[in-house]
Amino acid sequence: MAERTIVCIGCPKGCEIHVKYEGHEVIEMTGNTCKRGEDYVRNEITHPLRMVTSIVPVEGSEFKTVPVKTRSDIPKEKIFDVMRELTHVKAKAPVKMGDVILENVAGTGIDIVATRSV
Ligand code: SF4
Repeated sequence: MAERTIVCIGCPKGCEIHVKYEGHEVIEMTGNTCKRGEDYVRNEITHPLRMVTSIVPVEGSEFKTVPVKTRSDIPKEKIFDVMRELTHVKAKAPVKMGDVILENVAGTGIDIVATRSV
């Protein structure tokens, strides 16, 4: 059986949740003070997700880069694949906040979108 202590990011309280698990099965959980914490830890054990933020170069603008992010969370194990793909991406001005900069990044089905207009 494995054990971990995970800090919940569901709210500023930051509860430290201790979890015992085998494979993807949660055996025991203590320290969460609400259901959101329980859900967060279950996701962390079974299929952790993350939002990825970065910047990419932009051509034709006074700004050299544009900030971007995944439109929604992606599987944590895909973060390095996403970052690797982003090293080959250049945006062209004008870019509006929310514009798709890269579709289906790293085969996740999730797009990379601009988080600022430049
Ligand atoms: S368990 Fe609930 S109260 Fe604690 S940090 Fe997570 S969301 Fe906040």
